[in-house]
Amino acid sequence: MADDCIFCRIAAGKIPAHVVYQDESACAFLDVNPLVAGHTLLIPAKHYERLEDIPSEEAARYLANLPRIIATVTHVMDAEGATVAWNDGPVAGQEVPHVHAHIVPRHAKDGVGPIHSLFSGRARLPPEETERIADRMSRALRPRLR
Ligand code: AMP
Ligand code: ZN
Repeated sequence: MADDCIFCRIAAGKIPAHVVYQDESACAFLDVNPLVAGHTLLIPAKHYERLEDIPSEEAARYLANLPRIIATVTHVMDAEGATVAWNDGPVAGQEVPHVHAHIVPRHAKDGVGPIHSLFSGRARLPPEETERIADRMSRALRPRLR
């Protein structure tokens, strides 16, 4: 645990929070400054700053909780769906440097758009540029796909 990390301290029970679920791999608690009622955060029990820092097996155990937590948040809040997102890195708006999924209940006519509405435009790429990007990614990922 990182002593100076607020989310590590919540998972360790050292500072108060509305913890709604906890096991050896993950902890879920209500956001202290919710976007809407029921806004919940799901963190890995161990301190990792970025998603890409989590070893795959630990990530699997962390993420294994996600479907049930989404289902519970939406059910309890009488919501029709949820926006689920990680702000991954300060450039993406991550303020607390301990990985956390935001699970935000969504209601019909709540007037909030999809994640796409964060971006004002769309990248119009020439087909060869798309090809080049896909090629670079698949080369980089190949060893993991075996
Ligand atoms: P992010 O901008 O993605 O890093 O989001 C951090 C989230 O953590 C914000 O939605 C905050 O409201 C929430 N937060 C910060 N401190 C606490 C806390 N002590 N307990 C619960 N949620 C917190
Ligand atoms: Zn931490």
